[in-house]
Amino acid sequence: MEFKLPKRQTTGSVVCFSCQKLVSIDQEKCPFCGQPHPGLWGYARPIRRLGADFGFIKIVSVGCIILYAITLLFDLPGVRSQGVMRLLAPSSYSLAIFGSTGSIPLFEWGRWWTVIGSGWLHGDLWHLCFNLVWLSFLSPMVAGGYGAGRLVSIYTVTTVTSSLVTSFVAQYWPSLPASFSGASFSVGASGGVFGLLGALVIYGQRSGRQQVLQQALILSIVSFVLSAFLGRVDNWGHLGGFIGGYLIGLMPGFNPNQPQRLYHLGIAVGALGVTLICVILSPIHGLLF
Ligand SMILES: [Zn+2]
Repeated sequence: MEFKLPKRQTTGSVVCFSCQKLVSIDQEKCPFCGQPHPGLWGYARPIRRLGADFGFIKIVSVGCIILYAITLLFDLPGVRSQGVMRLLAPSSYSLAIFGSTGSIPLFEWGRWWTVIGSGWLHGDLWHLCFNLVWLSFLSPMVAGGYGAGRLVSIYTVTTVTSSLVTSFVAQYWPSLPASFSGASFSVGASGGVFGLLGALVIYGQRSGRQQVLQQALILSIVSFVLSAFLGRVDNWGHLGGFIGGYLIGLMPGFNPNQPQRLYHLGIAVGALGVTLICVILSPIHGLLF
C-alpha cells in the first residue's frame, strides 16, 4: 500500500477552520474572525476530510486495538476468559508492564506517566469494544461543540483526572467497601469517555443549548448507572473523568461560544505527542527495571 501525503491547496477558497466561514486560501488572516492561517497553510481541506474530529477517533481506536493486541501477545499463557462477559483478558502482569495506573503503580512504583498511558489499555474484549463505541458516539458531539483541538485536550486531561482520583482514593481512603473503592490497578479509556460527557454537560449549559444539555445529562446518568451495575468497574475513575471534563468546560480557553483557535490545535498535537511518549515509556521502564 502506498502512502501519499495530501496535496497542498494553493488556489481557490476554503472554510476557515476556526469560524467555518468561506475564505480565500491565500489569506493570511480570516477577515471574519481574525484567525491567522485560516486555511492551515493549504491543508485545511485534507484535514477536514478526516471528519469533524480531525481523525481523533481513528487515532484512539487504532492505538487502543494495537495496544490490546500487544498486551495479549506479550503474555499469551496469562490470557484469561470468564464466560461471555469477560473475553480475552490480558494478564495483570502484561497490563502492569504496559502501563496500568492506580495507587500501586503511582505510589509504590513511581510510574507517574501511567496516568495518561493507561487510558489506552483495556482489560478485556468487551471493555475495549464498549469504550470505543462510546467514544465514536461522543467524540463528534464534542468536536462539533468545542472543535477537534479542544476535544483532544479534554480527552487527554480527563484521562489524567480520572487516573488521579481513583489512585488517590485507593491510597488515602482504603477503608471503603470493595464496590466503592478506588483502584490499586486501573486501565481503560472510560475516564476520557466520562470526561467527554462532563464537557458536553457544561457545553449545554454555557451555550444555552437545552437539547444538548438534556441529552448529555441523560447519557451521563445512564453511563454511571450502567457501569455501577456492571461490577469490577472503576466508578471513582469515571467520576474523576466526568468532573475533570466539567471543570475544563469552565476554563476561558474552552468557552464553547468562541471558536477554536490555532493554539488549540497546537496543544492537541502536543497532547498526542506526550501521550505517545507515556505509552512507550511504560514497557521500556517495565522491562528494564
Ligand atoms: Zn474565521
